[in-house]
Amino acid sequence: MSRTERNCAGAIVFLGPPGAGKGTQARLVARQLGIPHISSGDLFRENVEKQTPLGLAARSFMERGELVRDELVNEMVRKRLGEPDCEWGFLLDGYPRTLEQAETLKGLLQKREGCGPPVVVNLGVSYTVIVQRLGGRRICPVCQRTYNLISQPPSNDNVCDDDGAALQQRPDDREEAIRERLAAHEARTAPLIEHYKAGGRFYEVNADRSLEQITEELFRVLSPGS
Ligand code: ADP
Repeated sequence: MSRTERNCAGAIVFLGPPGAGKGTQARLVARQLGIPHISSGDLFRENVEKQTPLGLAARSFMERGELVRDELVNEMVRKRLGEPDCEWGFLLDGYPRTLEQAETLKGLLQKREGCGPPVVVNLGVSYTVIVQRLGGRRICPVCQRTYNLISQPPSNDNVCDDDGAALQQRPDDREEAIRERLAAHEARTAPLIEHYKAGGRFYEVNADRSLEQITEELFRVLSPGS
């Protein structure tokens, strides 16, 4: 067994529909905890950008807002978790998204000595807020900083405050793809809430609120002994 499979301080999983703010919150929390933020969506987008075989296989599913096949996702995440920076724990954002993926994750964690089930946080959010967040989302292609034209606009029209790059809209943030992503979430991912509620540490966080309020509550539920 390799060193990376033997040690693990723990895994944190953020669940929640598209638009819950998982990515934004996961970046902040992971940085604060000193663990890597692993976003399956970001990993796929990197692969699409580099035109790898995985990226080519995933691209059309992503653009339509459909889920990529479990085998592809599981293999991508398995490889990423084997990297040395994951040795002392990691925060998963966007994975698992199906019961099959949750089973795979369970198996991967069981191979790591001292690593119990993941701590799972569900970021719950209303439909109105989801549509506002996704429709207004713009991303810097250089540093990946996320803005919202309504709630967190950049200082200058459509360019990143940090590096001046022109902001972009994700292809799957178009209305039709948003509808498809919400349907996929409802059908395939929402059942994970009951699955994780039934075993291990599970927390609900109301993600309809401001970014700061959500971050504060996340730190509260994730602090040791909570
Ligand atoms: P969202 O904002 O919808 O949560 P992500 O950035 O997490 O978006 O993912 C973008 C797309 O990548 C998804 O719509 C899907 O096509 C694909 N994807 C990401 N993670 C998974 C996963 N765990 N299982 C299947 N497909 C995934």
